[in-house]
Amino acid sequence: MSSHEVEILTVGDELLRGEIVDVNSSTIARRLLDVGLQVEMSVTVGDEKDEIINALREMARRSRVVMVTGGLGPTQDDRTAEAAAEAFGRRLILHEGALERIKTIFRKYGLELTPNNMKQAYVPEDAQVIINPVGTAPGFGFKEGGCLLVFLPGVPREVESMLGEVIERLVKPHCSPGTAVRSRMFRIFGMTESKIDQLMKGALDSLEGVSLASLPHYPENRLRVVARASTPQKAEELLLEAQRRIEERLGDCVYGFDDEELEVVVWRLLYESGRTLAVAESCTGGLIAHRITNVPGSSEVFLRGFVAYSPQAKVELLGVPPSVLEREGAVSATVAEAMARGARERAGADLAVASTGIAGPSGGTEDKPVGTVYLALADSNGAWSKRFLFRGERGQIKITASTAALDWLRLYLQGRNPQQYEIPWSWRGP
Ligand code: ATP
Ligand code: MG
Repeated sequence: MSSHEVEILTVGDELLRGEIVDVNSSTIARRLLDVGLQVEMSVTVGDEKDEIINALREMARRSRVVMVTGGLGPTQDDRTAEAAAEAFGRRLILHEGALERIKTIFRKYGLELTPNNMKQAYVPEDAQVIINPVGTAPGFGFKEGGCLLVFLPGVPREVESMLGEVIERLVKPHCSPGTAVRSRMFRIFGMTESKIDQLMKGALDSLEGVSLASLPHYPENRLRVVARASTPQKAEELLLEAQRRIEERLGDCVYGFDDEELEVVVWRLLYESGRTLAVAESCTGGLIAHRITNVPGSSEVFLRGFVAYSPQAKVELLGVPPSVLEREGAVSATVAEAMARGARERAGADLAVASTGIAGPSGGTEDKPVGTVYLALADSNGAWSKRFLFRGERGQIKITASTAALDWLRLYLQGRNPQQYEIPWSWRGP
């Protein structure tokens, strides 16, 4: 009887020495969670064969699935395939298909095939081979007792490219024959994790086969819902019902799903409504423009970004009146509004957002402590500003401010009154 569902074994001296960060475990864990499988333990060993053998035997005894990465390459220190065979008394046999693929790749690049490259085509007997679409070392998997063991190369890009097939062809049939799994990530901004937890308490309890996980993702929060049922259609129905309940409780704090970044949502809303955007940035230093321009197709909606850092830049680039700067200070509601208005007019855009604030660590005052940020939004009817107080160090304040600006835009584009924007956790003080 297996006590663990999934365990991960990463192999490599460089991992133990701290020279590289283990990316593969998190990739595998995330992808497995998408199909409702929870990783319960993750272990790293060095390139020593006996260490790998011991770990494999122990893990196979107590788990349903063991996912292994690293050490499948052609060099002396790549011993995982040997260890896999030896651990379970299997021979290593030449896999013709894998060898053919290695030969083809070498021919294509005009390289000479050396015996150690051929080593990569040897896999334990009775293993299923998994083609590596971006490298030479194939992966493989076999069952030992009730445990499925899957071996993948160490290169993160190769692991990524092979996981889809591994999960569909090997893991799913082994773990949940006859079970369909659907999952969705809900992306949330403007609510604390504890508030989300409180609002969601018991909300999905009556949905059998549905599980919920909360994943804080600064400055956002995410909820992962996994629905299991006997058929894909039933799983999808469960997921939709879960979604309905989540949206009912969390309202428009849910801004998107799965891989959809906030900037993509904003881009889509701008594009669909045929509106254009300009930004005027002081404390965010171009981050809002950067995020918007990360979206392919942003040129359709994004016209111009001004990074107006000094008071003089605010005057020259955006037409902020010097008297206002002098009277109110650069970090003020009036200046934020003037920046947004100026950006909108000078870019000839339908909408503009602006940021001005104190990202720290110095520059704070009693009135305006570090983290004080004014954001403004301008359209053809005028400009509105909001004062926020964000926590954290400089980088976090910039990220949160840019996220809040994009989120305000999102809600505006979804039809919300531009004056109504608030982030309950951002503000403490008068
Ligand atoms: P190769 O054919 O490249 O030798 P391999 O299967 O033998 O592949 P390794 O030699 O263990 O794998 O690692 C190959 C590369 O991938 C190295 O640069 C290594 O640093 C990196 N790598 C290995 N394991 C991980 C991991 N868990 N996370 C991130 N990078 C990794
Ligand atoms: Mg190697």
